[in-house]
Amino acid sequence: MNNAYLKKVYAQVEARDSHESEFLQAVREVFESLEYVIDKHPEWEENGILERFVEPERTVEFRVPWTDDNGKLHVNRGYRVQFNSAIGPYKGGIRFHPSVNLSVMKFLGFEQILKNSLTTLPMGGGKGGSDFDPKGKSDAEVMRFCQSFMTELYRHIGQFTDVPAGDIGVGAREVGYMFGQYKRITNRFDGAVITGKGIPFGGSLARTQATGYGLCYFSLEALKNLRNDSYEGKTVIVSGSGNVAQFTAEKCTQLGGKVVAMSDSQGYIYDPNGINLQILFDIKQKRRARISVYADEVPGSEYHEGCKNIWKVKCDIAHPCASQNEMDAEGAQALVDNGCMAVFEGANMPLNPEAIDIVKNNGLLYSPGKASNAGGVATSGLEMTQNSIRMSWSFEEVDEKLHGIMKNIYKACYDASVECGKPGDLMLGANVAGFLKVAQAMMAQGVV
Ligand code: NDP
Repeated sequence: MNNAYLKKVYAQVEARDSHESEFLQAVREVFESLEYVIDKHPEWEENGILERFVEPERTVEFRVPWTDDNGKLHVNRGYRVQFNSAIGPYKGGIRFHPSVNLSVMKFLGFEQILKNSLTTLPMGGGKGGSDFDPKGKSDAEVMRFCQSFMTELYRHIGQFTDVPAGDIGVGAREVGYMFGQYKRITNRFDGAVITGKGIPFGGSLARTQATGYGLCYFSLEALKNLRNDSYEGKTVIVSGSGNVAQFTAEKCTQLGGKVVAMSDSQGYIYDPNGINLQILFDIKQKRRARISVYADEVPGSEYHEGCKNIWKVKCDIAHPCASQNEMDAEGAQALVDNGCMAVFEGANMPLNPEAIDIVKNNGLLYSPGKASNAGGVATSGLEMTQNSIRMSWSFEEVDEKLHGIMKNIYKACYDASVECGKPGDLMLGANVAGFLKVAQAMMAQGVV
C-alpha cells in the first residue's frame, strides 16, 4: 500500500481495532485494490469517505439467554453489525457458530457492502450472528434460542431498515423460527423482513440453490471468457458440505464437471468416481450426520481426518465453500503443484492473503467470494421483491434472473480490472467496481 491516504486510514483501523484480525485482513485486501483508483478521486479524502467506510454505522451487541431441554440456563452473545446503508437497507446473513465474535461479524459486514453493491440491487451491507452452536442441539433447543435471539433483534430490523438472512449454522429451520417470533412480537406479517424463508410463507424458489448455482454461473463466465473453457470433463474439489457446497457440487456436476472431494470441519471424503450427491444430500440434509458416513456407505470412496488436506487432491478447479481462511499457503501450493487451473471462492474470504498471492502469481484464475458468491444475496433481493409485489416467481424465472445477475457481476469485475490496467484480475475488479458505487452514493448523501 503506497498511497498516503490509504495508509493513514489503514493505520487508524489497525490502531483502533488491533485485535480484530479478520476485519483487518478484509480491509487491507480492499485498500490494496483501491490503490489503483484513489489518485483519480481526491474528493474521497476531502469528504472522509474511507474513514466512514471502515466504521460501521451501528453495532448492536446483546445477551441471548435460553434454556436447554434439561432446564439448564445458557447465555450466548448476539450481534448485528449495520455497516453501510448508502445504497439500500442493511442486508446480510446471520451466522450461528462458536467462532463468531465482533471481528468476524465486522469482516463479513464489510465484505457484504461491496458484494451487495456488485449485485446492482439496492442493498446496503450488514451481518449478524451469535457464538451459539446449533450442532448437537434438539429442534426445541434451537427454536428457543432463535426466539430469544429475535426477541432482541426485532427492534433493529425491518424491510426498509435491515433485512437478515441465513449463513453458517442458519438455514431454513432457523430462519423459520426467527420469522415466527418476529411475527408474534410485532403482530405483522412482514415477509420482506428476513430472507431464506420457507416456500409456503414467502420464501423464493431457487434461494436454497442460489449461492452454489450462482458461483458456477460466475465461474463458467470466467472460464469461457478468460480461458475459452468450461466445466466439461474437469475434476473439481468443493470444500465444505453445507448449503453453498452442496449446490455448487450439484451445478458443477450438471455442467459436466466431476466433483471428487468434499469436506466438513472434521475431515474430507475422496471419491474417484465422482461424489454421489443423492447420498451426500441425504447424509447432510436429512440425517445431519458427519461427512465420514459417506465413506462408510459408498464403496471405493475414502475418508481422511482433518479438512485442510483436501487441497492436496488433484483437481482442475477448486471451489472453497466452507469458511474464512480455510486455505493457507500450503493448500494453495498443493493446488498449483497438481496443475489446478482455477480457484473460485464460494465461502467468504476462504483464502488467506498468502494463499491468494500463490494462486494469482502462478497464473490460476481466481475470484473472491464477494463477487462469485453474490448469487445468494442477489436471490434474497429477488425474494424481497416477490414479497413486496405479493407474487411468487417460478424456479426457472428466478434461476434465469440469477444467471443474468452473475453474468453482469462477472462483466462489472472484468471491466473494472481492464480500467485498472490489470485485465482478468477479478479480485481487483470486484473491489473497485463494488466500491465506486458505494463511494458515489456516500458522496451524494453528505456527511452522515
Ligand atoms: P453451512 O453451515 O450450511 O455449511 C458450512 C460448511 O462449512 C459445513 O460443511 C461446515 O462443517 C464447514 N465449516 C464451517 N466452519 C468451518 C471451519 N472453521 N473449518 C472447516 N470447515 C468449516 O454454511 P453455508 O454453506 O451457508 O456457508 C458456507 C460459506 O459460504 C460461509 O463462508 C458463508 O459466509 C458463505 N456464504 C453463504 C451464503 C449462503 O447463501 N448460505 C451466501 C454467501 C456466502 P461442519 O458441519 O462440520 O461445521
